[in-house]
Amino acid sequence: MSRVFNFSAGPATLPETVLKQVQAELLEWRDEGMSVMEMSHRGKAFVSILEQAEADLRQLLAVPENYKVLFLQGGATAQFSMVPLNLLRDKASADYINTGSWSKKAIAEAKRYAQVNIVASSAEENFSRIPTQDELELDGGAAYLHFTSNNTIFGTEFHYLPDSGDVPLVCDASSNILSRPVDISRFGVLYAGAQKNIGPAGMAVVIVREDLIGHARAGTPTMMDYQPHADNDSCYNTPPTFSIYIAGLVFRHLLEQGGLTVVEEQNIAKAQLLYDAIEQDDFYHCPTEVASRSRMNVPFTLADAELDGEFLQQAQKAGLVNLKGHRSVGGMRASIYNAMPEAGVRALVEFMGEFSRRHG
Ligand code: PMP
Repeated sequence: MSRVFNFSAGPATLPETVLKQVQAELLEWRDEGMSVMEMSHRGKAFVSILEQAEADLRQLLAVPENYKVLFLQGGATAQFSMVPLNLLRDKASADYINTGSWSKKAIAEAKRYAQVNIVASSAEENFSRIPTQDELELDGGAAYLHFTSNNTIFGTEFHYLPDSGDVPLVCDASSNILSRPVDISRFGVLYAGAQKNIGPAGMAVVIVREDLIGHARAGTPTMMDYQPHADNDSCYNTPPTFSIYIAGLVFRHLLEQGGLTVVEEQNIAKAQLLYDAIEQDDFYHCPTEVASRSRMNVPFTLADAELDGEFLQQAQKAGLVNLKGHRSVGGMRASIYNAMPEAGVRALVEFMGEFSRRHG
């Protein structure tokens, strides 16, 4: 075995225990004589997998009864369209908070259908911080308020939930879902691509308040309407069965760890280790405002950018991979989602210390 510590922003590292269970069950799931990949999505075995996955996710996030949990295709990006298509109803406008590249993509898509009000933006500060509640210039007449709870590329995270009054709150939680407890009753829709804290790529988890379903605008493609998916328990068509199965194993794993309060403590501890290492060494610099820092994606630069290539090469040799920052930001980025063990963060911190001693 030579598994590395994989700091990729997504698809990202998965819990090793989950991968081992998948391996053990790959050829035959329980007494079914076949892999989950080969099962009918309408058969008893798969339906039980889907139901258990949903039940476990509901338990993890304490999802209230009046919310549907959907496992959909098209990743988080499909939600950039599904949200306006389903939620605009008779309203002309939607509010968006712009905190980085993914917010901008969501905004661009919404502009196809609605007038978009940017109620706050940190663009002028190169997205190095999260606007505060006081800064939000909300429009009470908007169909919804959309925000990105964690900015995967810029490494910032909302540490408060925006208050949107009676306007439904919509959240792209792709890169911090399940990293901390969250009050679902505050949201109209919360969605996340799976490939960071949930499971394999290609799927999105969508948690949507029931009264927001069934109002898709005329002409909405059936697959983009929440209603048929909700009415058919995510099996309107053939769902991403294997991804749902692995997501279910991840949910179970998180419950066994003690749930999201415990997971959050681990995430705080891991992030603290890494930010402390960056702060304590002039050789490294983190571009984000302290109060806005993400626990999931930690960007940092080296004092001498000429050394970036060598840093990445040496890190790779030490089994620490995918640390290159996003092309739009440069430098480094360590993504330390739920499944990154503390040992991985400690190994990175140790490597960074040694590297700066050699080159500082
Ligand atoms: N939103 C955020 C915050 C993301 O980080 C990503 C992917 N990195 C996306 C949306 C897009 O997700 P997908 O590729 O699953 O469509």
